[in-house]
Amino acid sequence: MRILFLGPPGSGKGTQCKKLADKLKIVHLSSGDLLRAVVAAGTPAGLAAKQFMDAGNLVPDDVLIAMFGEKLSSPESAPGFILDGFPRNLKQAESLDALLAELKTPLDVVFNLQIADDLLSERITGRRSCPKCGAVYHVNFHPPKQDNICDACGGTLTQRSDDKAELVKARLDTYRKQTAPLIEYYDGQRKLQTIAANGEPDDIFEKILAELKVLENSHSK
Ligand code: AMP
Repeated sequence: MRILFLGPPGSGKGTQCKKLADKLKIVHLSSGDLLRAVVAAGTPAGLAAKQFMDAGNLVPDDVLIAMFGEKLSSPESAPGFILDGFPRNLKQAESLDALLAELKTPLDVVFNLQIADDLLSERITGRRSCPKCGAVYHVNFHPPKQDNICDACGGTLTQRSDDKAELVKARLDTYRKQTAPLIEYYDGQRKLQTIAANGEPDDIFEKILAELKVLENSHSK
């Protein structure tokens, strides 16, 4: 299966993609996670990317297109993949289509996680993650058992530098202007499945699995 997730920051893409990648045993390619790893490595490319990220802007297209070109051409993506955060504008979407056409591995489905704007800010600013194992929590909706300590590995939780309240508006504006037009783009390709994403993560996951089942059945006919 080759799957793409769309949705604004805070819509739960990361959570759903991780669960689905575990279930389907295919690779989860998160542009934000890949960029944060480059930033953490402290290379000149990482420092340059951090400036865009900390302003709530998109990192230049050529950086992302090269990064995903490499990932999608590699053997780990051959059994299938889940894209999370890439593409984020029309130019990236067209580059992705060209690359996947060349590889003869078109997307099977695009899930759009739909959620009311007023829920996003609280979801984003309350998010905390474990730098050691990558587990994600929320101070109100999914707190760790012990304050600020990862349940899974005991690491100290941190807040992403771009999850601060003052940056949320810029990130949501960037999403609306540059990424939201992709909903229509993939609808035009008849690949879009909209999922209401304002409930419990497990319920949303069930809805995604149900849509995949319908898709698999229609393919096997
Ligand atoms: P995310 O973890 O998906 O919210 O991404 C964090 C930040 O990384 C974004 O606010 C952007 O600055 C940058 N970023 C992630 N994906 C992309 C992309 N496809 N194109 C450009 N910048 C991106």
